[in-house]
Formats: sequence, C-alpha cells, structure tokens
Amino acid sequence: EKNPQFLKDLTPMMEHYIATKRENPTCILFYRLGDFYEMFFDDAISVSRELELTLTGKACGLPERAPMCGVPYHAVESYLNRLVQKGYKVAICDQLEDPREAKGMVKRGVTRIVTPGTNMNASSLEEGKNNYILSIIYVGNTFGLSAADVSTGDFFVTELDSDRKLMDELSKYHPSELVCNDSMSMCGLDLDALRDRFHMAISPLESYYFEDEACLNLLREHFHVSDLTALGLKDFPIGSIAAGALLKYLIETQKSDLANMSAISPYRGGNYMLLDAATRRNLELVETLREKEKRGSLLWVLDKTRTAMGARMLRSRIEQPLIDEEEIINRYDALDEMLSDMISREEIREYLNPVYDLERLITRITYQTANPRDLVAFASSVAVLPAIRALLADFSSRNMKRILDDMDPLEDIKTLISSAIAEEPPISSHEGGIIRAGYNQEIDRLRAAATDGKQWLAELETREREKTGIKNLRIKYNRVFGYYLEVTNSYLNLVPDYFIRKQTLTNAERFYTPELKELENTILGSADRLLALENELFCQVRDRVGQEVVRIQKTARAIASLDFYQSLAKVAEDNRFCRPRLNKRGILEIKNGRHPVVEKMLRDGDFIANDTYLDNKSHRLSIITGPNMAGKSTYMRQNAIIVLMAQVGSFVPAEAANISVVDRIFTRVGASDDLASGQSTFMVEMSEVANILRNATSKSLLILDEIGRGTSTFDGLSIAWAMVEYIANSRLIGAKTLFATHYHELTELEGRIDGVNNYCVAVKEKGDEIVFLRKIVPGGADRSYGIQVAKLAGVPDGVIERAKEISEELSDHDITLIAANILPEAKRGARKPPSSLDEVDMGQMSLFDTIKDDDIIRELRDMDISNLTPLEALNRLNEMQNKV
Ligand code: ADP
Repeated sequence: EKNPQFLKDLTPMMEHYIATKRENPTCILFYRLGDFYEMFFDDAISVSRELELTLTGKACGLPERAPMCGVPYHAVESYLNRLVQKGYKVAICDQLEDPREAKGMVKRGVTRIVTPGTNMNASSLEEGKNNYILSIIYVGNTFGLSAADVSTGDFFVTELDSDRKLMDELSKYHPSELVCNDSMSMCGLDLDALRDRFHMAISPLESYYFEDEACLNLLREHFHVSDLTALGLKDFPIGSIAAGALLKYLIETQKSDLANMSAISPYRGGNYMLLDAATRRNLELVETLREKEKRGSLLWVLDKTRTAMGARMLRSRIEQPLIDEEEIINRYDALDEMLSDMISREEIREYLNPVYDLERLITRITYQTANPRDLVAFASSVAVLPAIRALLADFSSRNMKRILDDMDPLEDIKTLISSAIAEEPPISSHEGGIIRAGYNQEIDRLRAAATDGKQWLAELETREREKTGIKNLRIKYNRVFGYYLEVTNSYLNLVPDYFIRKQTLTNAERFYTPELKELENTILGSADRLLALENELFCQVRDRVGQEVVRIQKTARAIASLDFYQSLAKVAEDNRFCRPRLNKRGILEIKNGRHPVVEKMLRDGDFIANDTYLDNKSHRLSIITGPNMAGKSTYMRQNAIIVLMAQVGSFVPAEAANISVVDRIFTRVGASDDLASGQSTFMVEMSEVANILRNATSKSLLILDEIGRGTSTFDGLSIAWAMVEYIANSRLIGAKTLFATHYHELTELEGRIDGVNNYCVAVKEKGDEIVFLRKIVPGGADRSYGIQVAKLAGVPDGVIERAKEISEELSDHDITLIAANILPEAKRGARKPPSSLDEVDMGQMSLFDTIKDDDIIRELRDMDISNLTPLEALNRLNEMQNKV
C-alpha cells in the first residue's frame, strides 16, 4: 500500500478513504457511502470476522477489488457497541454535506472516534455505573493518574508513590480504557497483564501527548483559568500532566469542546480509607467474588436508590469510605434526619422516581446529540425540583442543607423547554412537530400555510370545475410531479387553453395552471422552511440548555446525594441498622453485629448476632478457632463490613457499635481466586501477606483467615505463628486483627503475647454429631471436628469410620513423638515457631495439648548461669540433649 503507483490508480473516493485511514491508523474506519458505513481492506476482513458480516469487494481502480463489508447507517450504534466492547476503536467518517447538493465527490470527514472509555451510547452504558477512562504517567518514582467519565463529566486527578497503590486505584475505577505512554513499561509494569486483569483496552499515546507545558496550557485553556492553583492542581504536577494528556485525547476523539467536563477534582489517597484490590474482592463490596454479580454484594443490600445518578454515587461512595470523622458524622446526621422524617422521605422517594439521568442527558445536550424527546425528559425531570426543595427546607443538618443549596430549581430551563418543545415531539430533530404552537410566529405562520394550503386547493378545484364544466376535475399530488389537475379522457374536450399539459396517462391527462404552480410553491416551500426552522429552533433551545451545564451538573449531584441518603435511610429502617458512635481511643466495640448480606440470604431471624471487642491494648488480636463451616469467616467479614459501612456514612447492622476510624482494611481470606495470574495459590497468599505486613499500621483493621494453608502443616503453622507475633507487637504493627485459624496450637499464644485473646465458635456435641451454634465465645476450640464436618458433608460412612481409627492411632503414638521434638524450643518463651519437621507432618494435630513432660524447661529455668563454669554448662547441655 506504500507503493505510490498504488495510490495513483485508485479511484478518488478510495484515495480519500486511504488518506483518512492513515490519519487514524489505530482505528477501524467506518466510511459513509450512501445508506451504509463501509469498511475496506484489513478493516473489512477483521470486522467481517468479528461481527459475522458478509465480506464482499468493491472496484477501487486496482486490478483486484478491495475487500469490503458494511453496516446500514440506521443500525450503526449496535455494531459500534459490539466492536467497542471487544476493545476496538472506531472512527466514524461521515458525509459533511448533503449528497444531493454536492458538486463532484461528497465531502467527508471523521466526526467522532468511539473508544471503550469514551463510548457515549446510552444503551451500552450501565446505568448505575460510571464508565471511566484512565490516563497514567510515571515520572521520578511517582505515578500521575487522571480518571474521567465523559458520559457524566466526572474528572479526577491524583498522584501515587507505588505501583501497588496504582493497582488499588485501578481496581477502584475499573476503567474500560487506559491511555499511557512508554513510561509505563519503563517502570516495569506489564501492560498485557494489566489489560487481561482489568479487561480494559490500552491505548498507547505518542509521548508528545504528555509534554508538560502543552498539558498545563490545555488545562488552563479548558477551564478558563490563568493559574492551575485555582483548580487545586498546584500540588499535583505529575497528575496534571496525566490530566492534560487525557483531555487532549478526549478532545481529539470526541471532536467536541467537552463543555460537560466543567470541573476537575484532585484528591490524595489519604482522604479515603485505603482498600487494596484483594480486600475489595474479598469483602464483595459491589460484586460477588465468584459470579461477579451485584446480587449478593454489599451494594446489593444498600441500593434502594431511585435514580441512575444516585446509584452511581452510592457505588462510588462504597468503593471509597471516608476517614475524616467530621465528614462521617455529617453523613450520619443527614441520615438521621431522613430517618426521623418518614413522610418527607417517602415523598422524596416518589419525586425521585421519574427523574432521568440528568448527568448523562446534559452531556448529550452539550455534545449536541440529544434529540427532542431527551429535552422533554429533561424538562419533566427538573419539574419535580421545586417540590423537592420545598420538602428539604425543613431539614437542618449540614449535608441536607448543602443539598438544598446546590439544588437549583432550574425553573428557567424547564419553562424554556416546555414553552418551546411540543409535548410529544418526534425522536428525530429533522422531523416536523418539534416546536410547540405559540412559541414562534414564523413556525405558526408556516404551519398555517400548510393547513390553509389545503383550503386554497379545495377552493381552486371548485372554481375551475365550475368555470370549465368538467364535473370530475380533481387536484391531486404526487412526489414526482407535485400538484396537478386531472381530467379523464371523456372530458378532454372541455379543457381550456390556460391548462398546461404535464403528463398523459391511458385514460386521463394531467395539467397545471400558473395559479396552481404558485400555490404549489407556497405550500411546498413552507413545508421545507418549516422543517428547517423547527430544526434550527430546536438546536437553539438545546444550546441554551447546554450553556447551563455547570448549574445542571451541580443540581444533578445534589439529586444523587439526596438519593444516596434516602436509600441508606430506607435500608437502615428496613434492616434495623443502628447509628454508630465514633471514638478516638482505638476501640472497636460491636454489640450483636450481623453480616448484612448473609443475613439477607437466610430466613428472617435465622442469623445469629455476635459481639466484638478489640482495642489498642489488651485486645489487639483475636485468635478465632472452630470447625469448618462454624461461621468464622462470616463473623470476621461482618466486622470488616460494619467498619467499612460506618465509614461510608451508613448505619450498621448491629444493636450498638462504637468504632474508631481505621485507615485501611486488609483481608486475607481463603484460597485466592487469582489462579488465572499463573502464580501458585501459596505464592499469591504470601504476596498478599507481605503486602499486609509491610503496609498495615496500628490504625488498620486486619482480617486474616487460614493463613498458611497452602503449605505443609509445620511451615504453615510457623508462618501463622510468626505473623501473630509480628502483628500483635505494638512496636511493629499493633493493628486490630481477627485471625481465624485451624492451627489450634496458636491458642497457646494467649497470655504469652500481649493483646492476644482466644475466641471460638461454639458447637454442641450430640453423640457422634455436632450442631453449629454460630456463637463466638471466649476460649480456644479444643477439637477441629473435621471428621464430623466431613460426615455432615456426606463423605461415605466407610471413610468416616476409617478416619476415626487413624485419628485415634495417631494421637496415641505420634503426637508424643512430635511434642518431644519441638517442645523445648517452643516453650522457651514462645519466640520461635517450630522449624521444619516435615517427616512428622500429620495434618491438624494439637501439639501442645499433649505435652506432659516439661522437666527440661524447669531445669533450664532454675539454672543459675552466673555460677556455672563453661565446662559445667557444656555438661548440663549434653545431659539435656540426651533427654530429648
Ligand atoms: P467457616 O469460615 O467457619 O468455615 P463460614 O463463615 O463460611 O464458616 O459459615 C458457613 C455458613 O454458616 C455460612 O454460609 C452461613 O450460611 C452460615 N452462618 C455463618 N455465620 C452465621 C450466623 N452468625 N448465623 C447464621 N448462620 C451463619
């Protein structure tokens, strides 16, 4: 294709096609030809495969026809969506002039580029979810990150100092597209792995997109400020570059001035509770771990929002819990007010119901893609605002007042739309009937001309009939010939000479007269003028509304916030949640806490509530033991979720809760689902553990379930043991921790390490069987009941019986051996866990419970070292060694 000869032979259209394609090399080019968008060459081959379209060919001036496939223009959106969802970028090349008026080849040009992160098509966007595009740049050990949702106008900037934090942000936004330059691969990030992990498209940009000065200039220009300080970007030099590059990319793809991106919000990680990707997944905040569905997630329980804007706000607030106590309390106060005024709340719910997605509507309005029905929907949505404002006037909490302040009644806009646009206009802005009668004199006149025209024609017909005596003289109309007088053959002799012949049929002739011609011009001309004028006025109204983008976006956000509170209030009431108290003493105290999701899944009243008490002193770390299926992980997650909900500003599923704000929640739960990444389960587990140990602080909450499961019992026990020591040590971490384990040996640590306490899930033994009581009680479980649980699960009787025999033999014989081997070391202050003893790895056995003989310890403890000669010491050591 580089061959110049090749270009010379091409037809002019194909030449233009190739030139356009060269300007958009990374896009599939949809090229408008008549009623189709056509693709050629390689694009045609790959798209026909992806969308199962027939591949044909088109003569293009070359010896061989160009491969071609096409989609009808009126159905283009659905094909576009399918391509974009598969990660393609599509450039739309449209006709820029009316082909009927074009002289020579129709002028064409790219009018927009649709990419996964900038798709604005309403039917492909999930209502309650943002569609983010992210831009990342790496400079001097810092990541600049900017995120935007063009469908709503949201625009964020931040900076991060490690790739782990970058991953955390990525999993918060879940972008559908990422733009970046080479700096990303230079800092060692594997873009392909990222793409697979987040199912996003990656669009590498040339480095000039990220040029400092150009980026900063573009931001200044776009936001009409002379200094970036005004935008709060001064402390985000690298983030600003990411934002500038993103803005440039968006302007280029959208071919729009992006008036809807009217604000930018810089933030620091430290403003929010930090949640890493694994913790978000494990706590099932917005989707379940396995099915990836909303049903079964925390969002599912909390979402009683009525509007798409509210649903998105709830989701993003759940993904971003607060750490500022004042802010949290402000949310509680707003919620309290909502709860106490049930009548207003129900009315607000009613009013919110018919409110459309104003954020996305205003975007379409500023993009000039909104149709007449969109404007009507817009007007009907803002029509409820005065009534909502009246209800809000009675509220006095800070956040409710702010909602009222931000909520503009937008009456001017409502009046404009409803005075200008008909009640039920057509969808297309090129059809008649958009503008309401009485709005514009010219429109009314032209419409009258159309109706009056019929009258004039009827009058003319009667007049001519009387004048000529042609009894069946008729005025008719068709698209090709316009208006004409029709005379059947039997009356032809009566035709007067001022009738001018237009067309001859077998049994009739058609004529016109100068008077009819003039009438025709008036009637048809006014119909055309009417359509053009309706479209023009509609666009004017739309642009007028578009100019109010800032007011409208602010109002939309206020509505979202109101919806957020009414949803949480409704959920709190329906599920008997309580308002948490906050304390600064590091205490986490929950009375009769419940797991909000598990509770919903069970029959009413079947969920057993449990208490929790943790603090920064004597109750830092709880070791929780109990058989499988007893309810350990439910209990641990419930505590994490209660703390998280409290920091989102929600009330919590408990009778009472006293919470100190945590900076992070970490979870390490069960087998990892990250098998796709190609790492072994144990490796994944340990890297998560490493992350926790490196980043947890005394203000964090740790939920650790079955640490060390992926390796041999003794390695696993050793690792778990060492972790408990490390975490509980207030000089090292000292985080509040719930630590579930099947290693009963760890219960030995109570009393040996400060702040460690044992709890277990109570079970009742009934002969050979067990009954789960689901109650957390102080103390360690003495048995793991593995065989009983296996029996409950339906393992055949033969295996159960044999397992019992083996278990008895093992406990009689081998445990003594194991204990004799590791006891001295273990009991000497419990500093060191047993080392590798793989040869006696027998599964889950209680080591220390069986220890009877602690002579050696006693001997050691009583030894008076300062009065021993070196030789004596060696002899004593030798004696001791012989005993073990
Ligand atoms: P473990 O972690 O001890 O193996 P889980 O926490 O997974 O146990 O709980 C097993 C099942 O027990 C859960 O799926 C849930 O149905 C039920 N369950 C757990 N906790 C409770 C509770 N407090 N009240 C009622 N049912 C519970």
